[in-house]
This record gives sequence, C-alpha cells and structure tokens, in this order.
Amino acid sequence: MADASSPLPPYLEADIAEAARLLHRARYAIALTGAGLSKESGIPTFRGEGGLWTRNGEPPMNAYERFLMDPAAWWRERLDETGQKNNELAIAIAQAQPNAGHLALVELERAGYLRCTITQNIDNLHIAAGSERLLEIHGNRTLLRCIECDARYRPEMVPTEELPPRCDRCGGIVKSDTVMFGEPIPRRVLRACFLEAERADLMLVIGTTALVMPAADLPAVVYRHGGTLIEVNVEPTVLTPYCAVSLRGPAGTMLPRLVEAVTEHAGREPQFRGVGLDARL
Ligand code: NAD
Repeated sequence: MADASSPLPPYLEADIAEAARLLHRARYAIALTGAGLSKESGIPTFRGEGGLWTRNGEPPMNAYERFLMDPAAWWRERLDETGQKNNELAIAIAQAQPNAGHLALVELERAGYLRCTITQNIDNLHIAAGSERLLEIHGNRTLLRCIECDARYRPEMVPTEELPPRCDRCGGIVKSDTVMFGEPIPRRVLRACFLEAERADLMLVIGTTALVMPAADLPAVVYRHGGTLIEVNVEPTVLTPYCAVSLRGPAGTMLPRLVEAVTEHAGREPQFRGVGLDARL
C-alpha cells in the first residue's frame, strides 16, 4: 500500500480529484466513520481482514440484557485488572494515538468543509485528534453513562465502593458509555445524528462495513434525499454501488490526499458557514 507521500496509480489520483471536486461543491458535508479508520492506529476492526470477529467469531449479541441481569457482576469484571489484560480491543485502544486519517478530518473541519463527524468508534481518537463537531453514536470507551438520564461521567467522578455505582443526578445505574449489543442508543445523540444526515448533501463514509444498525441507515438518509456518498475503504461494501466515488485504499493515506486535493481545488480559503451543533454529545 502507498504511504501518504508516495505516488498513487492514475485512476486513484482521478478518484481523489473527483472526490475533492464534490466536497468543494457541497453545501453541507458530514462524515461517518467506523473501525477501519482506527486500524492504522493499531486498533483491530471487527469485520474484514484481520478483524476480531473474522478471527474469533461473533460474540453473543445480548450483552446489555446480561448487564441488566447483574450490573454489579459486570462492574466486578470491569474492575478486575487480570480480566482486562486479556481484552485485546481494550489494550489496543489504551495504547492508540490518532493517525493521519483522524488528523485529516480535523483539517477538513477547520477549513469549513466538514460540518460534523459521526463516529461509530468508541476509541476517543477523534477527540484526541481535535475534532470538535463530533457525535459518538456508540459512545466513548473512556467515559461512563447513566442508563436512565444519559448523564456522562469521567471514571474518576464515579465512586465504585458500592456496585453498581449510581448516577449523582437521578440515582440510575451507571455503566460504560460504550453502547452494548442490544442496548438502545441514547436518544439525544441518535436524534442529532439523524438531523445531521437529513441536513447533509454529502457524506464521507470511512472505514465502515455499514452493517451495524441504526448507524448504517445514516448514509441511506443522505442518499435518499439526493445527497452524494463518497466511500473511503480498503474493500468494497454494501454501499459501494451507491457511492459517487470510492477511494479504495487506507484512510490514513486517502484522507490526507483528499485534503491536499480539495485545498488545490479551492485555490483559496473556503467560506465557512458555521452552524450550531451540540458537539461531543
Ligand atoms: P467493521 O469492523 O464492521 O468494518 C471495518 C471496515 O473498515 C471494513 O469495511 C474494512 O474493509 C474497513 N477497513 C479496514 N482497514 C481500513 C483502513 N485502513 N482504511 C479504511 N477502511 C478500512 O467496522 P464498523 O463498520 O465500524 O462496525 C463495527 C462496530 O464495532 C462499530 O459499531 C464500532 O463501534 C465497533 N468497533 C469500534 C472500534 C474502535 O472504536 N476503533 C474497533 C472495532 C469495532
């Protein structure tokens, strides 16, 4: 695979130029990111080559149901450092740093091209990179959340002498902010994601198989009302036939090239038509 500075094949240069043209023309562009974006930060994906599920099979899909049956047991397991040492995803996330793909999205946001990033990732890397207009649809692994009122807490704010810990505001049970399999997505963030998709006339769909619902519906919302989809992925996905352009390569190479191309295309500072967004929900 090409790195960020080596020449790309002509067909890929043409695709990047076309993606830059579309992005420059867009009135309200947003991004949807998935596990593939963080792969170059050393975090394995679930599906696709080398993915955790590709290697180990799918885990049970009733994690939230099991949590509700015994939240204290879930907390004991979480606080048990020996157990955490065997959690490949947790270890990789703890060590990861944002890569060139995360940083390119920040550049696009700061230049006024990207109005919002919706991420399915839980790894905190968009925030570490500097994204401000961010919606974390599956939560953030570094935070905790009350299952009743959705208040989010940093772990050091929540005493764990008594398990399960309770919310300061409403007394509800507190768990990891990460949305578990079978758990409803907090309503406020879900609504914000769909509002952004309804507003968007272009979506960059980056490093996701687009199979996990309801996040997988967001590109469909953009497409159904006449918006443009641009995919950045090393492999084709179910969305490929609906994409105006598919940048077939790693996000850490493709996204910096897209930033360069859109900057060249503009030849001037783009106009920023900022809008209010309750970022980091
Ligand atoms: P997925 O695991 O289903 O698919 C990963 C996708 O990324 C595949 O389409 C693959 O072809 C593509 N990909 C792999 N390397 C890439 C690269 N370098 N550049 C661009 N694309 C690349 O991921 P998903 O669709 O996000 O769904 C999995 C769910 O698992 C999500 O809901 C997410 O919350 C969670 N998850 C998150 C993390 C994380 O936070 N980093 C990691 C694993 C899984």
